[in-house]
Formats: sequence, C-alpha cells, structure tokens
Amino acid sequence: MGKPIKRIFGIDLGTTYSSIAYVDEFGKAVIIPNAENERVTPSVVFFDEGNIVVGEVAKESAKLYPNEVVSFIKRSMGEPNFIFEYGTERYRAEEISAYVLKKLAQDAELHLSETVSDVVITCPAYFGINEREATRKAGEIAGFNVRQIINEPTSAAIAYGSLDTSRNKVVLVYDLGGGTFDITMIDIRKDSVEVICTGGDHNLGGKDWDDRIVAYMVEKFQEETGMQEDILDDPDTWQDLQLSAERSKKILSQRPKTPISITHGGKRVKMLMDRDKFEELTEDLVERTVDFTREMLDAAKEKGYTRFDEIILVGGATRMPQVTERISDAFGMTPKVFDPDEAVAKGAAIYGWKLALNDDLIRRLSEKAKKPIEKVENISEMIDKKEISAADFKKAAMELAEDTGYTLPSVESAMLKVKNVTSKSFGIVAHNPKGDEIVFNLVMRNTTVPVRIKKNFYTAVEDQRTVLIRIMESETSKVEFPVEHAVEIKTAILHLPTGLPSDLPIEIAFEINEEGRLYITAEEMSESRKIDVVVDTASVIGGEEFEKAKARSQNLVVH
Ligand code: AMP
Repeated sequence: MGKPIKRIFGIDLGTTYSSIAYVDEFGKAVIIPNAENERVTPSVVFFDEGNIVVGEVAKESAKLYPNEVVSFIKRSMGEPNFIFEYGTERYRAEEISAYVLKKLAQDAELHLSETVSDVVITCPAYFGINEREATRKAGEIAGFNVRQIINEPTSAAIAYGSLDTSRNKVVLVYDLGGGTFDITMIDIRKDSVEVICTGGDHNLGGKDWDDRIVAYMVEKFQEETGMQEDILDDPDTWQDLQLSAERSKKILSQRPKTPISITHGGKRVKMLMDRDKFEELTEDLVERTVDFTREMLDAAKEKGYTRFDEIILVGGATRMPQVTERISDAFGMTPKVFDPDEAVAKGAAIYGWKLALNDDLIRRLSEKAKKPIEKVENISEMIDKKEISAADFKKAAMELAEDTGYTLPSVESAMLKVKNVTSKSFGIVAHNPKGDEIVFNLVMRNTTVPVRIKKNFYTAVEDQRTVLIRIMESETSKVEFPVEHAVEIKTAILHLPTGLPSDLPIEIAFEINEEGRLYITAEEMSESRKIDVVVDTASVIGGEEFEKAKARSQNLVVH
C-alpha cells in the first residue's frame, strides 16, 4: 500500500440528516459511521445544560425538551433574524450547524484515528450568496479548513459519474431531501461536470410529507374523540406526532399499510394508514416537484439543451414509491434510484480527493518548474504557458500514482472541471427614468460562473464621500422589476476620495466565483483609482460574533 495523501473529507450537511465520507486507499468513496454506528446522523442539536448533544439522542430528546432542541437549522442559514437563545447565550445558525459538523468530524476521527481538518461541504443548488457563505462560516467555526462549498446535485453527479466514465451523458438530478427539493440538469463528461440549469424549492421536502400525515392524524383524533382543541398546541404531542409520522412514512415506502397510534390528554386513538391514502394526501406535493422540473427543462431549452439521457434520484425522500411512479409517468423514463442517502457525501469526498491529488501534483510540478507554489493557478495553465510539458505532467502523475497506490487514470483525472451556474439573479437598486426605485438585474439566474459584470455609477454631487449600493437577490429573470420582489443580501459602501466632481463615472465590477461567492471591486475611472469597498451583511455571522463562536467551539466536545 502506498503513502497516503492529505485527506480532504466530504460532508453532506443536510436539513434532517448529515454524513461524512472519505476516499479510501483503493480510491473508493466510503461513508464513515458515527459513534452510534449509523451512517447518517440527525442534524439535530440538544442544548443539555453544559453539554451539546448532536444526533439521534438529540432527536429523541426533542420530545422531552422541545425548547432546548434545534432541528432544521439549515433552513435558517443566512437568515439575519435567526437567534437561538439558551441561558444567557445567543447562537446563530452558523454556530449550531457547526456543532453538527463537529459531531461528524469527532466521530470520524475516532473511527479513523486521524484528524479531520480539510473538508468539502455541500449545500443545495438554490442556496444564494449568504446561505453559501453561512455554510462556509459554519465549517470555519467547527475548526475546519473549508476547501470548497459545492452543490449537492453536482456532488451526487460526481459520485454517479465516477461509476461510469465510458460515455458522456446529460442527467437530471432529482434531489428530494428532508426539507428541500432541487432539480438540476448536469452534463457529465470524462473530465468535467457541468451544471446547465437548476431549479427547485427550498421549502419542499420529506418534512412536508410528514406534516400531511400529522394533519391527518389530528383530524382522525378529533373525529374519534370528539375533542376539538388543536392537539398540536401541546409541544409533547406535536413532537410525538412528528416522529411517528416520519416513521410511518418510511414504513409506507416498504409496506402497503402501517398502524398508527395517537395519544393525547389521556386518550389514545389507533388507526391504520395505507399507502393509497398517504399518496392521496400528498399527491400535490409530488406534483409540485414535477412542475419545478418542467420549469427547469424550459430554462435548459433556452440554453440549447433539449434532451437528457437519464434521471437520477437522490435524497432520502425519493425512496417513496410515488416519486418513481410519478416521474416515470411525467417524463417517460424510469428514474434510477442512486444511493439516495449517501451519494452527496460520497461525491463531495471524491471531489475532495481530486483536490488533494491535484494539490500534490501541483506541488510536484511547481518544484519541477521552479515556480513558487502560491503562484500556480492550475496545471492546465502551467502546460499552456509551457512552464511544464505534457510529458512532465505524465511523469508527475505516474510518480504520484506509484507513491500512493492509486491508479494512473484516477490520478490523471484529478483535473476534473466543475462548472456551475448561479441559482439566483443578482442586481442592484437603481432609479428608473420615472424616478421609481427598482431592481436592475446584472446577473441572471442560471448564468455560468465565474462571471464578471461591470457597471458604471455616477457621483450625484460634488465632493461626494460615499456611495451606497444595495445588492439584491431574486429568482426572476426580468431585467427591471419592483424592489419588493427581491431580497437585499448585502450593501456595499464605496468610500470616495475627496474633491471629486459630480457626475463622475465609477466602475463597479461584480464577480461571482465558481463557488458562488460574490466579490465587488470599484474603480474611479478618470484616474484609474481603486476605491475601497466595504461589503456588509447582517445575514451571515461575522466580526466579533464569529470570533466568539469560533472560540466557543474550539474546545467543545459534542456528545
Ligand atoms: P436527506 O435530507 O436526503 O437525508 O433526506 C431525508 C428525508 O428523507 C427525511 O424527510 C426522511 O424522512 C426521508 N426518508 C428517509 N428514508 C425514507 C424512506 N425509506 N421513505 C420515505 N422517506 C424517507
């Protein structure tokens, strides 16, 4: 067996469950079980006096201590108003997510006797700029070196593509998780994974199916007992019904019926739920996923993609037979259920592994070219600039394959290109000729990234000292539209030098990188002066709050 390279772990930070994976010495992605020997860990955090408990125990504790348990925290990532108060302390969503990440890493370290430091974390394709940044911050609070944030469907496609690289294919990744639905068209080739289009709903997931069962249970309980009160007002009953609904839903994926019992206020009602009834209660939810898929296909058509080869299903909720049935029916193609619980973490691990191999190749090739490693952008560029030859690359790849024991093709494929699109449109607040405030879109959703857009702004008065730019995110592809149809995600303040005349052009460049991070730069055109831009957002943890969370998390052992 060869010398191992520095590992980069893949983490699927899910709404309901999370998991961690790595690539083993044979080049195979494997999930690392948690301390409870489970392959997925509930993304649930229990503040148990001085202890932080994450996972199954936390999930079960929700029943007894509903106010001390936080679930579905992913839905609050990037939300400025989310604060969880416990005792005298306040926690933002990033920090609570960091505890989930810590639990995964801690258990993985125990299992592998190795430190988890570098990671690739996944997020839904529809996550906007703030949610992505919040995910990165969660990783940093947990103490990781976050190498990259990649999209869940891209990650699943990498796992899928790595199984069969014999032919190019266009796949639809239909990802129905615990709280979110993503539909993405991806062009998978031997050396690239390119996202063509993405769509979905971040408030549609397995949980909504659970809620329908809960509502039905409440109705049945009222019918049988004659009690008219809303039994969900009782937090214990609410928790009980939630857990029992999820259990029943999972059973109905395997069996035609399941018994359900509801206990509240000393009364107990027993009932049988069959799959037909469950499907009737949730038909519109599946239909919504079909509508989103059609919408995405229309957008793909505009980009010249009129067909696809396969549909792959990922996300735990695609185990419901109604999903396969409805998708087959709507699109005339039987979807493939692909490793629904594990594909995302495994794909992230494969991507991380490729990054690690790539790091090692760059180290070898920069030595060969006598070029400082920090000046190397990527290997293709070194070859293009003739700093190294194709033969140098081959030799370095062979040496790396020999040193590590990995196959030569897998080492050579480390240069996998991942191309992404923005899932949202980005614009700024401006005034139209009538003087109304509007959003003027600069980057339309489903634009391939990286992208750089420039726009001129003009000083309004003489000696203007600051310019405030409000950056707006939306799901519309219109060029101009009312402010209330977008969300303000950041403000950028330009600090201008003194003595500028009015009406002076200032060029602002908005750049979105491969990961979906936004960078803003500005230049005063008359003298080509760089202008200081301060980007501010209340939606993502930062400054002192971030440092405090990081310090708090540093020595914390989660249970
Ligand atoms: P994910 O976020 O991909 O882990 O998906 C979690 C969701 O999948 C939760 O809503 C689970 O209840 C749901 N799920 C997991 N297993 C099953 C199953 N066998 N049948 C139906 N739903 C499931």
